[in-house]
Amino acid sequence: MSVLKIAIQKSGRLSENSKKLLEECGIKFYSGISVLKTTASNFPVEVLFLRDDDIPQYVEQQVADIGILGENMVFEKNKDVDIIEKLGFANCRLSLAIPKEEKYTGPHYFMNKKVATSYPKILSDFFLRNNITAEIEEISGSVEIAPGIGLADGICDIVSSGSTLLTNGLHEVETILKSQAVIIGNKNLIAEKQEILAKLLFRIRSVINAKENKYILLNAPESAVEKICSILPGMKSPSILPLVNKGWCSIHSVVKEDQFWDRIDQLREAGAEGILVIPIEKMIL
Ligand code: ATP
Ligand code: MG
Repeated sequence: MSVLKIAIQKSGRLSENSKKLLEECGIKFYSGISVLKTTASNFPVEVLFLRDDDIPQYVEQQVADIGILGENMVFEKNKDVDIIEKLGFANCRLSLAIPKEEKYTGPHYFMNKKVATSYPKILSDFFLRNNITAEIEEISGSVEIAPGIGLADGICDIVSSGSTLLTNGLHEVETILKSQAVIIGNKNLIAEKQEILAKLLFRIRSVINAKENKYILLNAPESAVEKICSILPGMKSPSILPLVNKGWCSIHSVVKEDQFWDRIDQLREAGAEGILVIPIEKMIL
């Protein structure tokens, strides 16, 4: 019997969410501090705990069949692997930043300057696209400190809120890449492994869909039903149940998480009362 080998980050910003995603897919496995490899007890997968930098290479070489990591690392390593699914967590961007007292005039600002980064490939592609000749100083961590200690004129690094840049006297001037966690896969998986992967992806999509949607219940006078149904798109169409109170009903539907605040204002205006918004655990489409 084949097992699908999944590489996830051992310890870092992706680890908790990667483990949680597999657990939410109903996959049970043990993950102690010193565990580097573990087999799930109820699904044909083996989980390998690795540094995120190594995952693209291991997936290309089929040491692992699939891996979970940031798109930034996938593009930087540029290995021959497929991006199979976007996962919607670890959202960040790879940006250029310069000392905050410096005025930015566009990408040519970097002409003949020195930029420190852990992403030399993505950065040199960016400079090439913009016809800029600049020196790239590759360092593996604490990149933000480079201008302050005279190592470089600017940096190219991962940003989420931008607060680390500010603390180090830098300001963000150019976004090179937007990134989120993705699943990458080896290009030559045997049929049995592809079957396991298809089952896993079905579960992952159900978990992601559930997170992106909310179940909404509300009461409304029957006269407002038509208006309210036009506001609620629902999966197919909303369910309508009569209430004991004559002339009233309860409407149930599913709304996208990112739309539900404006929908709620519209619903209240249309006469909806007692609105409940409930998380969905799994959503099978
Ligand atoms: P490793 O020891 O595995 O090499 P690392 O130190 O290189 O880990 P982390 O800092 O844990 O890497 O980041 C892993 C990934 O998480 C990054 O490649 C990026 O995709 C994402 N990430 C990094 N910083 C942030 C952030 N501030 N917000 C959201 N996502 C982030
Ligand atoms: Mg790393």
